Amino acid sequence: MRLFLAIPTPQALQQQLKNLQPLAPDGVSLTRTENMHITLAFIGDGNIAQIEKALAHFNFQSLLVQQEGLGVFEGRKRSILWAGLAPNQQLFYLRKNLTSCLNRRGISFDLLEWQPHITLARCSTAAHKTLMKEFLKQANNPTEAFRVEEFALYNSVIEEGLTRYKVVSRYALQL
Ligand code: ATP
Ligand code: MG
Repeated sequence: MRLFLAIPTPQALQQQLKNLQPLAPDGVSLTRTENMHITLAFIGDGNIAQIEKALAHFNFQSLLVQQEGLGVFEGRKRSILWAGLAPNQQLFYLRKNLTSCLNRRGISFDLLEWQPHITLARCSTAAHKTLMKEFLKQANNPTEAFRVEEFALYNSVIEEGLTRYKVVSRYALQL
């Protein structure tokens, strides 16, 4: 299983982000708009019931998030082109509270330094230097902030060659 906790993005933002995606020549894969999300924690293989139990009483205030800036995580082989978020302490607290909750129940998750982002595309590093440069040069006009009222536990599956994120459970944030 590929379980992860993430914030879904609103459709209006998805459409704006779609305009920032590069063309998709060979070796470039674009995130489908409905899949655009902000990962809060990647769990991978895990016990769904145990995770649901850990989060059953999870409580956090809803928050405002604003997309801002573009970036690239340049890997040795593959790179990730992403849309960033405006600095947001509440979002970091949300991640921190979630990971504490998982830790308390002995549920393991990605331990790399968390950098909130929305993945827009992936490509091979060596073959797409120019594409990455052009991506970063684009104007990223300010988008409207959106209120995050929930996050979800997703299971990432591949169906007919397409990555799909299936909602396993939803967690509302307090208004
Ligand atoms: P693909 O099918 O192309 O791999 P994907 O990367 O979006 O698509 P998953 O690999 O299932 O799908 O990952 C789901 C989410 O978890 C994505 O946001 C991904 O960036 C994130 N993720 C995956 N592996 C890790 C990891 N080891 N550490 C942190 N986040 C991860
Ligand atoms: Mg992946």
